[in-house]
Amino acid sequence: MKNKLLEIKNLTKTYHQLKSSTNAIDNVSFDIYDKEFVAIVGPSGCGKSTILSILAGIEEKSGGELKFNKSNIQLAYMLQKDSLFPWRNILDNCLIGLEVTNTLNEKSKNYVLNLLNTYGLSDFIYKYPDNLSGGMRQRVALIRTLAINPDILLLDEATSALDFQSRLAISDDIYRIIKNEGKAAIMVTHDINQAISMADRVIVLTKRPALVKSIYEINLTNKSTPLENRKCIEFNDYYDKIWRDLDVNI
Ligand code: ADP
Ligand code: MG
Repeated sequence: MKNKLLEIKNLTKTYHQLKSSTNAIDNVSFDIYDKEFVAIVGPSGCGKSTILSILAGIEEKSGGELKFNKSNIQLAYMLQKDSLFPWRNILDNCLIGLEVTNTLNEKSKNYVLNLLNTYGLSDFIYKYPDNLSGGMRQRVALIRTLAINPDILLLDEATSALDFQSRLAISDDIYRIIKNEGKAAIMVTHDINQAISMADRVIVLTKRPALVKSIYEINLTNKSTPLENRKCIEFNDYYDKIWRDLDVNI
């Protein structure tokens, strides 16, 4: 039996400006299970980032309910821009979340050092972000996000600033790290291929104000790494269905 971590029920959000208001999300409901990788796709401006901002506590919801089925649940946000501080070395960049939350201690620092070692960054701990490739910087940004040991990672177009080749490579990295560390993730992406290749479920949203249009359980024969998953026979079928769902909305 899968363990439900989070229930999102009838979530709505209206942004109020001085002279107008924008109805960003209308009535969005879905659940997140333990260790599950969920991708959200939808037309540009439909309210995807708004959903993540509400989950992260950056924006207030206008209506609906968020039910966290675990006390002290931690969510951590990874953005498109890696926003690493150029004047801090890689280790110090990764420790920021712990400093801000006042949880930097021997144990938490060792956890970060372990992550950096496990995921191929041991030679770069005392280097600065400028010395790293775009893909490596994203890996650092992911480790910084993992540093506070969150239950759910929120990834907002986390790879879309990278070129296609790097995006493929870092998608494999992100997937492997998140699965190895046993985390749940909600990834917003405009890239249907990336969504199918990485996610256990893909949630398709309508155009603004967002509603859930469809949800696909991604069942691939020989499910493997995101790169390999692109070769599975079911892949194109999912692509066609999701593309059609999105296309109707344009
Ligand atoms: P997406 O991530 O799907 O591209 P967003 O969630 O960023 O969409 O935005 C959804 C809608 O809400 C857009 O029309 C956007 O202009 C509007 N919006 C987003 N953030 C704000 C804000 N802080 N104030 C007013 N309107 C906003
Ligand atoms: Mg967005």
